[in-house]
Amino acid sequence: MKLTIAWLHPDLMSTYGDRGNIICIEKRCQWRGIAATVMPVTLETHLSALSTSDLIFMGGAQDRQQKLAGPDFLKNKGPVVKKMVEKGIPALFVCAAYQFVGHYYKPYQGDPIPGVGIFDLYTEHPGDQAKRLIGNVVAELISHQLSAISYQQKTIVGFENHGGRTYLNTNSKSQTSTTKPFAKVIKGFGNNGEDGYEGAVYKNAIGSYFHGPLLPKNPHLADWLIQKALEVKYNTNVHFRSLDDSIENKAHGFIVKKYGSQKIDTFRN
Ligand code: GLN
Repeated sequence: MKLTIAWLHPDLMSTYGDRGNIICIEKRCQWRGIAATVMPVTLETHLSALSTSDLIFMGGAQDRQQKLAGPDFLKNKGPVVKKMVEKGIPALFVCAAYQFVGHYYKPYQGDPIPGVGIFDLYTEHPGDQAKRLIGNVVAELISHQLSAISYQQKTIVGFENHGGRTYLNTNSKSQTSTTKPFAKVIKGFGNNGEDGYEGAVYKNAIGSYFHGPLLPKNPHLADWLIQKALEVKYNTNVHFRSLDDSIENKAHGFIVKKYGSQKIDTFRN
């Protein structure tokens, strides 16, 4: 089996170690004998290359880089990514990328940056007096779409650093918006520091504020993305043999123990 991972704007949007997510996916594929090819997708990359990839990743950025990447993502790459997500191709959007796949992101200064509306959400920086939402975070998976992940591990750990506050489902005409929260915050701020949610899920696409990078300390999430990519590409169920994740799980457990001291509720579908 082989996979092509499209890495969007690696030169502009890869802050706080987010390139580590690509390395994690690549290694976990290689350890299983899956031929993984990483395809950097920059402002100059032709759209046909993007549309034939099997898994999408885009990382975080400061407002300045977002303003550089935004127009191209909105006009060119974003509509292609939206079609791919609608077809069930898995994607991980971290922080600034997460903000780009909602309806808009209003930065600290300047006009709102329109998003491509894959997720039913919007993001706004509250302005001058607002503090940045920074720190180690622990959250509990709550989305039923990720039940396979939740079976293996109920928590997600990471590090957040964002000024924008993200709000879900504000544009939905009914209460059954297909954009669902990804996790429930146990320690940290998450989407906005108010509603207790972190991230969002739509089909096989995940948005999250968790840097760190996210995937190495959450190998269950990395495997879920790889598994979904293979299932969609080859139209078959995929079951992975377990890898020795003792170091990854030790790192994960250390963060949960140190920061997630509150009792973690039992898993809810
Ligand atoms: N610039 C955005 C914000 O401050 C995203 C930051 C990030 O990607 N870490 O909210």
